[in-house]
Amino acid sequence: MKILVTVKRVLDYNVKVRVKADHSGVDLANVKMAMNPFCEIAVEEAVRLKEQGIASEVVVVSVGPGAAQEQLRTALALGADRAVLVEADAELGSLAVAKLLKAVVDKEQPQLVILGKQAIDSDNNQTGQMLGALTGFAQGTFASKVEVAGDQLNVTREIDGGLQTVSLKLPAVVTTDLRLNEPRYASLPNIMKAKKKPLEVLTPDALGVSTASPLKTLKVEAPAARSAGIKVKSVAELVEKLKNEAKVI
Ligand code: AMP
Repeated sequence: MKILVTVKRVLDYNVKVRVKADHSGVDLANVKMAMNPFCEIAVEEAVRLKEQGIASEVVVVSVGPGAAQEQLRTALALGADRAVLVEADAELGSLAVAKLLKAVVDKEQPQLVILGKQAIDSDNNQTGQMLGALTGFAQGTFASKVEVAGDQLNVTREIDGGLQTVSLKLPAVVTTDLRLNEPRYASLPNIMKAKKKPLEVLTPDALGVSTASPLKTLKVEAPAARSAGIKVKSVAELVEKLKNEAKVI
């Protein structure tokens, strides 16, 4: 089974996000970038399926700037076999990304596509679902367990208030939730080996996909700063403030 895994280059989760002065977006100049954590889980799951002899090849794909090669090399160091970068400098919407991923699916013909459930920069949580719709593949989102049984895939999904297990006929699209696995760290020898693994660079034009978007970001704003707290002298004062100022009791 061939597995395609998507990897998005995002702001590292430890970085404090700053909004650009003109409110056109988040300032990405000189900040640490990393692989989206849910994509790390996707890579880990695919590599485990390969280690179990279930997957024959793991191909990782990213849509983004040339610098996203860094995250693809990380995925190769974690055990993926081959990488594809669809180079696009402009910030693309989910639909454009899903269309590009669909073109890569058509080219690569994987039996399974694993994506993160959401990218921590935009929190869109929609690319996997869009790819499922565009390809017509069965989809299992928010997976916390994936089991391959012949040409079926049993996916346990994290849903509100519990777990749901669905059986999907391959080919399928799966998106990863946090509890699916704990990603490994890349070892130094594997980081060195990853430098020699194949990385193909494609363009939206070469894939015949228009990245024009029906969506325009009007304004990005940081959340309002929290005002400082105060110390009260007594329980009576606290109760009085909760009742009359905060009006919560
Ligand atoms: P989103 O729908 O933007 O929250 O992203 C969900 C998942 O789709 C991410 O975890 C990635 O696996 C995948 N994805 C989104 N954007 C990209 C991209 N530009 N390149 C590769 N994968 C992406």
